[in-house]
Amino acid sequence: MLIVMHHSATNEQLKAVTDAVEAMGLVAEPIPGSLRTAIGVLGNQGYVDDTSIRELPGVREVIHVSKPYKLVSRDFHPASSIVDAAGVKFGDGQPPVLIAGPCTVESEEQMLAAARLVKNSGAQMLRGGAFKPRTGPHTFQGLGVEGLKFLRQAGDAEGLPVITEVMRIEQLETICRYADVLQVGARNMQNFDLLKEVGKCGHPVLLKRGMSATLEEFLSAAEYIIAEGNPRVILCERGIRTFEQATRNTLDLSIVPLVREMSHLPIVVDPSHATGRRNLVGPMAKAAIVVGAHGVMIEVHPDPDRALCDGAQSLTPEGFGKLALELKCLRSFLETL
Ligand code: PEP
Ligand code: MN
Repeated sequence: MLIVMHHSATNEQLKAVTDAVEAMGLVAEPIPGSLRTAIGVLGNQGYVDDTSIRELPGVREVIHVSKPYKLVSRDFHPASSIVDAAGVKFGDGQPPVLIAGPCTVESEEQMLAAARLVKNSGAQMLRGGAFKPRTGPHTFQGLGVEGLKFLRQAGDAEGLPVITEVMRIEQLETICRYADVLQVGARNMQNFDLLKEVGKCGHPVLLKRGMSATLEEFLSAAEYIIAEGNPRVILCERGIRTFEQATRNTLDLSIVPLVREMSHLPIVVDPSHATGRRNLVGPMAKAAIVVGAHGVMIEVHPDPDRALCDGAQSLTPEGFGKLALELKCLRSFLETL
């Protein structure tokens, strides 16, 4: 960390800052310049919390050299991580993973039909929400534990591992009994207490980017999970809020290659929640694979027009079958490059 002082900073202010750094058990190294003095901070193992320093009189700016997401960063873990989620591997050198299923678990029949079509199209993991983070309280909120049972049953019927969202700490134990992978949704990306508990439970976690989260905030959220001892984190870009209203969110595909540069964790893309429109899901799923995503998560429903949630962005069984085939062809093509 580098502390840059104002050009008018007094010697007393400089000393107060030096004392504050040393009180944190770190070394302060003043670097006098022609216009102003900077103080190099040495001896830290990772990111330094600068709250006790940045407000001190005479301090102009604090520049962090270490990132707040040490465990997530390639600086500390240069080799790419392969995350094994119930036998499905996410990461460099692995075929892109196709996760698919309805937005919400609605009934036993719906889930069995969804699992069958997902499996027949060659997807590797089944999704379905049982506890739903809906924008309004008067909409279908999910079947809860009953939904978890239908999801598990459908996954087992087709030999597919299952992923579902956890919204509250109290749900964790139950969800871990039924699901192979935990999803932390966009709305909970900065629910730090939940992230910590998810980090303690040992299940692989798919962490979605918050709809207004910067990349640094996204990676810092993943850091919370890993810091508690759970390294099996899969990042998921699902679109962010922008001024654009034509699509549900704006898919920020550029972070995929950037995350791959900055972090050793795998990253997948959810083009369904990113676009909100069925006809845009396929093109953006293919684009995601081209830019290096380790997988895609797609909403598909046996009868999307009757879906209780997110029907407009859910693929039909036929549409999904076609996309799965295209993704397979795309993968073969990319392997020739
Ligand atoms: C979901 O995947 O079911 C979901 C609610 O997505 P997001 O958290 O990205 O909105
Ligand atoms: Mn949905």
